[in-house]
Amino acid sequence: MCTQSGAGSWTCVLCSGPAAAGICTGCEADLPRAAQPPVAHRIRGIDAVQIPYRYAYPLDVLVRAFKFHRDLAAGHALAMIFTSNVSNHLQSIDRLVPVPLARGRYLARSFNQAALLAHALGAVSGIPLAADGVRRIGGSEQQSRLSRAARRRNLADAFALVERVDGEHVAIVDDVVTTGATAAALARALRHGGAARVTLVALAVTDNRRGGP
Ligand SMILES: [Zn+2]
Repeated sequence: MCTQSGAGSWTCVLCSGPAAAGICTGCEADLPRAAQPPVAHRIRGIDAVQIPYRYAYPLDVLVRAFKFHRDLAAGHALAMIFTSNVSNHLQSIDRLVPVPLARGRYLARSFNQAALLAHALGAVSGIPLAADGVRRIGGSEQQSRLSRAARRRNLADAFALVERVDGEHVAIVDDVVTTGATAAALARALRHGGAARVTLVALAVTDNRRGGP
């Protein structure tokens, strides 16, 4: 897909009309908004939630195009609407922690969509990222790979912290929230690592807690 039509101008990834930032203002206004507060508000260990959108058409098309087909124009549009919606709600946050992918998924896809969204948010807000501060431990193989960091990490069901976050307000950054189980497990690891407060920041939440990308 070729969507950059000239110096600094883009065509909208949804309607192909002119757009300053990947998606035009009309299409952006029509995107499915999440109810406030979204269902994810009830996730264990999460103090606050910032999720602007529902995972529904046409947002789901863009997410899947980026996530599974590496459509960079879609990724750019998603990063723009994500940062413009949440960057004004991050006042007390000390650190951004993107949800890490399991190693197998990371290799298959070659990038982590949550990490890309977190990088975009960090660039806009100036809040530092802890992209390497937490690792996903899917099984015994991954766990053994992390053994060198054993002294410095805290284990909680699915994640290992390799860097403490004592007293910090940490924002977990994810692309699409479904059951909230991942965020809850990561929040637990962050609490073990000393986090004082945990906010979940995501692009979208599914309606029925199933059927994510
Ligand atoms: Zn449009």
